[in-house]
Amino acid sequence: MKRLLKRIFLGALIFFAIFFAVFFILVALPVPAPLIPNKTLTPFAITNVSVIDIEAGSLIPGQTVVIEKGQITNVGPTASIIMPENAIQIDATGKFLIPGLWDMHAHLGTKMSPQLTLPLFIAGGVTNIRELGGVSLDYKRGIHQKILSGALIGPRLMGYASAFVASLDSRDQAVELVTDLIDSKPGFIKVYNQLLPEYYFSLIEEAKKQGITVLGHKPRAVSAIDGANAGHKSFEHARLFLFECYPGASQLRERYRARYSGEVSMGGRIIQTSDRREMIDNHSPDLFDELATVMVENGTWFVPTHITRKMDAFADNEAYRQDARLSYIQVLQRYKWNSDADGMIEQDPSPEGRKAFMDFYLKGLELTGKAHRAGVKILAGTDANDTYCFPGLGIHDELQELVKAGLTPIEALKTATLNPAEYFGVSADYGSIASGKVADLMLLDANPLENISNTAKIDKVIFNGNVYTRKELDNMLAYVAGNASSLSISCKLIWQEISE
Ligand SMILES: [Zn+2]
Repeated sequence: MKRLLKRIFLGALIFFAIFFAVFFILVALPVPAPLIPNKTLTPFAITNVSVIDIEAGSLIPGQTVVIEKGQITNVGPTASIIMPENAIQIDATGKFLIPGLWDMHAHLGTKMSPQLTLPLFIAGGVTNIRELGGVSLDYKRGIHQKILSGALIGPRLMGYASAFVASLDSRDQAVELVTDLIDSKPGFIKVYNQLLPEYYFSLIEEAKKQGITVLGHKPRAVSAIDGANAGHKSFEHARLFLFECYPGASQLRERYRARYSGEVSMGGRIIQTSDRREMIDNHSPDLFDELATVMVENGTWFVPTHITRKMDAFADNEAYRQDARLSYIQVLQRYKWNSDADGMIEQDPSPEGRKAFMDFYLKGLELTGKAHRAGVKILAGTDANDTYCFPGLGIHDELQELVKAGLTPIEALKTATLNPAEYFGVSADYGSIASGKVADLMLLDANPLENISNTAKIDKVIFNGNVYTRKELDNMLAYVAGNASSLSISCKLIWQEISE
């Protein structure tokens, strides 16, 4: 018996020794070299193309767009354009040209974003993002610089978030947080659900003094009207008008305040199916009008990220769960997504519970359309890297959601082009196809004004004046798919998690 135990012990020891040896060999293997941007010779011209004029909301056929050193230098009818000497011509007969897209709510995901995430954005025609947090500010600053200097493929990080500010213990902490960010522009402060009203308002006040933006989730205990009036720059996620515009809204805020301040210590979820039902069935158009008006007056932006609410509603849908694009998602992340989606079902698997999530998602779409018609400025954002929000590729899903919400295709396109440029105050350089603007473009095989899903039919992406052909975009996708299933990368990510 003793000998048997000894053998088992020795066997286990050898097994673990081999296991850890293999693990650390895999951790130590070199990281796949990041992709480096193309350097397309200029000048070049895209000829005979139908240009989508985002500003005018029209389609102009038979155009030529000249690009030199990363900039659009001429746009006009093909016959009238005087071609620069030695210009390479790309015949785009039958194709459609739109500006590069922006994802205004994206997360880089892991510290291995050059291997796992950044190429997906370019492959999806997303040339600029607003990064909403998760990895350190230093890391993001480094990535941003590398992308700008042409050392790395990826979208520009036109703005990036501080760590989520979910709780503060004093006003001094708010001041400290703002001071830390002063040298980190385009950094901004992202507030989160749990932040208590008193600290939230101190934070906004302090940030305003230093010219730093505060945005993000509306803290649950704060009224959106007060937040908008205080200067909250953009509200994230389509639950906004549902949570805020029903008779129980102020009571709900109080329930959150009591919980987050520690006044009540009971656990469990605050929002139940019955609350969700109430928000949908007792939605108050009057409260909605009041909030929408305040948002319009203050120029508060709205980033509904409908695909996140779609996940809630479709978590039990088999076809949805088997999206072919999952091959671009790192295996550990895929596992997390699956358990998150399962957790969503478990919140209330009864038919009534599932229906409440579906109705909540649909009501959110309806209210975004209504907000848009009331003049609230909408931005397309995906929550990339959150469950079933595919980095880069998900922007096309969100554009389709916005059309379902009642925006026309051109209005939806604006939320991912002109509006973000306006949000960042860079409309002179970005957001449409015009002489003098940065050459961030997407050449499509079909007309997105006829069907918004055509934005995903990408023939070429032009980023920063460099051309990526369909084949090169496919190679980028294959590079990410390879990394996503790499055992070595999984081990590295696990090791990162353990050692940090
Ligand atoms: Zn997010």
